[in-house]
Amino acid sequence: LCGVVALDGPSGTGKTTAARRLATELNAGYLDTGAMYRVATLAVLRAGVDPTDAEAVVAVVRRTRIDVATDPSAPRALLDGTDVSVEIRTEEVNRAVSPVSAVPEVRELLVSEQRRAIREAVDNGGGIVVDGRDIGTVVVPDAPLKVFLTASADVRARRRSAQDMAAGRASSFEEAKASVQRRDHLDSTRATSPLRAADDAVLLDTSDLTIDEVTAKLTELVEG
Ligand code: C5P
Repeated sequence: LCGVVALDGPSGTGKTTAARRLATELNAGYLDTGAMYRVATLAVLRAGVDPTDAEAVVAVVRRTRIDVATDPSAPRALLDGTDVSVEIRTEEVNRAVSPVSAVPEVRELLVSEQRRAIREAVDNGGGIVVDGRDIGTVVVPDAPLKVFLTASADVRARRRSAQDMAAGRASSFEEAKASVQRRDHLDSTRATSPLRAADDAVLLDTSDLTIDEVTAKLTELVEG
């Protein structure tokens, strides 16, 4: 693989797991852009700032160092040098991440950081699988392969609820469904870089597919 695979879509589509597996198979890097927005959000919450106060949010994000490792077998997210991989997955962060991500200056800062990481991987002769919401539309609009993953709301909620359970957080199906739908609605309706498929993206509905099948489909697409 010599280039970039742009994977976009809402949560619960199997995107992150499949992206990591694909990157491992291809011996490529993996960039979880959602983790970057989550680290920014954790910094905002820790600073005691209201996630909807755009000006205060930008001030926090400007002074925060956000690093995300690109090794698909060891994804790590760092806030000012400290590993916060677990802390960024809480329901508190899930609730605050959409308003933080909707701030245009936050996106500008993170997108330029994402492009730098992508350029580095490509310049080193490797490829990179990039996971997000606006990768095919904004971050790398000239990516040779763009895939937009979808799944029914019920399937996404079920996957999310199972993930929560595995992480030791109880969440009912109804809670998971409400949380997933709320975030996707906010992500899809924001003014800057809303969640949507690029015109030239391949659409992949994962509702009836296992993770192995999603990964196999992606491998097939990469191999063209
Ligand atoms: O992928 P994940 O669910 O971890 O993303 C968390 C949140 O970060 C999304 O709900 C969205 O608000 C934001 N995000 C974004 N643009 C990206 C990736 C994530 O706005 N490229």
